[in-house]
Amino acid sequence: MASHLFTTGNLRLTDDQGEWEKVAGRMGVSTARLRLIRQVHGVAVAIARGGEAGPDLRPEADVIISDDPDVAIGVRVADCAPVLVADRRTGAVGAAHAGWRGTAAQAAVVAVAAMTSTFGSNPRDLVAAIGPCLGPCCGEVGPEVVESFREGGHRESDLARWFTEGVFGRALLDLWTANQDQLERAGVPGGHIHVAAICTKSHASSLHSYRAHGREAGRMAGLIRARRAP
Ligand SMILES: [Zn+2]
Repeated sequence: MASHLFTTGNLRLTDDQGEWEKVAGRMGVSTARLRLIRQVHGVAVAIARGGEAGPDLRPEADVIISDDPDVAIGVRVADCAPVLVADRRTGAVGAAHAGWRGTAAQAAVVAVAAMTSTFGSNPRDLVAAIGPCLGPCCGEVGPEVVESFREGGHRESDLARWFTEGVFGRALLDLWTANQDQLERAGVPGGHIHVAAICTKSHASSLHSYRAHGREAGRMAGLIRARRAP
C-alpha cells in the first residue's frame, strides 16, 4: 500500500451495519478490523497493536494510535474535529476526537506525543488532516468554554486567535485554527497539516451536525490505517 487511507462515511447513532461495511470497504478491511473507541471528550489514549484487541473491545478513550496495517482506526464526530495523523517514515497512525473539551485538553498534541513515545515517531515526519467539524462561523460557545481553555493553561494570545466575538458578544471557537496551531506546536510542520475547513453545521444537508440536527444527529467517521512496511 503506497499511501495512507482517509475516508469519511455517514454513520447513524445506531451504528448501522451497512454503513460500517461501506466504511470498512473504503479502508480495505473487514468490519471486524475496525478499531473504534468509546469517546468521552477526554484525552485518554488507546493503542491498537498488531494482533491485539477484538472488534467489540472499544476502550474508553478519545485518541487511538496504531502501527497495525491490518486494522483501520478512527473516531466518530458530528461537529467535533476528527484529527488524523500519519507517520510517513514508520507508517504508524493516530486519530483524535477533538471537540471543545478535547481541544482545550490538547487531544491533537496528546496524539502526537503518544505516537512519539509508543512508536518512535518524530513529529517532523508526521502529516495530519483535520476533517470537517464546526467552523468559526458556527462555533458559538458560552464564557465557560473560554474560561476552561484559560484554566487549561492556554496563552491569552492563543485565546485571541482561537476565539472571535460573535453576535451579542458571544464567543466563537475556531476548532480549525486551534487544532492546527496545536499540531504545529507539537512539531508537525505547518505544510504537513491539511485542514478541510468545511463547517458541519453550515453544510448540514450533506454532513452530520449535532448543532443542526440535535440529539438525532448521525455521526461521521474519520478513519486511517497504518502503512504496511515496504
Ligand atoms: Zn458554519
